[in-house]
Amino acid sequence: MAKYEIVTIDGDGIGPEVCQSTVEILRAACGAGMLSFIPCDGGASHYLKSGSVLPEDTFEACKAADAILHGAAGLPGVTYPDGTEVGNDLHLILRFKLDLYANMRPIRLYAGVESPLRHWRPGQIDYVIVRENTEGLYASRGGGIVLRDELATDTIVVTRKGIERVARFAFELSRRRKGAPRDGRRRVTVCDKANILRSYAFFRSVCDDVSGSYDDVEIDYAYADAITVHMLKRPDFYDVIVAENMFGDIISDLGAGTVGGMGVSPSAELGDRHGLFQGAHGSAPDIAGQNAASPVATVLSGALMLRWLADKHTDAGLAAAADRVERAVEHVLSNKLAVPRDLGGTASCTEMTSAICRALTSD
Ligand code: ATP
Repeated sequence: MAKYEIVTIDGDGIGPEVCQSTVEILRAACGAGMLSFIPCDGGASHYLKSGSVLPEDTFEACKAADAILHGAAGLPGVTYPDGTEVGNDLHLILRFKLDLYANMRPIRLYAGVESPLRHWRPGQIDYVIVRENTEGLYASRGGGIVLRDELATDTIVVTRKGIERVARFAFELSRRRKGAPRDGRRRVTVCDKANILRSYAFFRSVCDDVSGSYDDVEIDYAYADAITVHMLKRPDFYDVIVAENMFGDIISDLGAGTVGGMGVSPSAELGDRHGLFQGAHGSAPDIAGQNAASPVATVLSGALMLRWLADKHTDAGLAAAADRVERAVEHVLSNKLAVPRDLGGTASCTEMTSAICRALTSD
């Protein structure tokens, strides 16, 4: 029996392509006996067939597994009567039911990838956005009202318990990192709109309380609008940024844009027991089924999964495999052995997969 059981949910659009690419690469990196993959149904196309975006047996398998690897979910035409997209419910249900409260999104400029920001070199943009994942504005999804076709409301919800645990996650993460590229200082930046709304002022004050236990990590503050400018003008200042759910969602796409786009940006959604790993991008239906997607974001999410499992189970072999996967991706990108289409090259999803597998075996 394999040491770790991983549920895979391919999902929609480019989801199956990038998920299967990652399975192939993780198998090559870990060797036999380490991982077993359990394919499960879910997503917007599954909803069209069955009426369920996340079937009960998939949920039970996710609950029992050591980790979950997901491609992407969502199709633009598949919506509920209120106009919201069905596909998003796949990861929203998992987030809420499995209590995946910290969404970790590394923003790192790899060698070989050109940033649209002039002057910045690999190593100078290297920070992590920690998005609170179970509260905030999105927690009220489905609970808002539309009244008389005249007005609509959705309500932001934040709790001391929810903020404390995500803030602690951010400070602990900073402790394990090398600090901001600019000055080597460990720093947690709290991203909010504390000047406008009470809920955000509360978010900031609870983060302040938590920072009291971390004298070795500096606390810093930025309003959500101002940080969009800072992330472009001084990205090297950042180490870890912690943000409310919706702000975290928005600024992590911006951060991804500064290091090559959605196709290179991984994501890990973590709770105390469970972990869900997928690229930060959506299902990109415009390029689905053409073998044109870059698997890099999902592959790097797979590496995050290996490292998370390695930490949890104190498994040095798995940590080494995570390093190998990241090194292989870096080797392929920096030597331009295969350049995905979203980074200006011509490599297909399968060509990227083969190049990364070759780099793994020659490591
Ligand atoms: P969501 O709302 O679910 O996050 P979205 O429609 O806003 O999804 P994405 O699906 O993330 O956005 O993608 C936006 C565009 O970026 C896509 O249309 C596609 O052209 C490009 N893109 C996203 N992911 C990839 C990828 N892995 N490889 C290549 N291009 C990608």
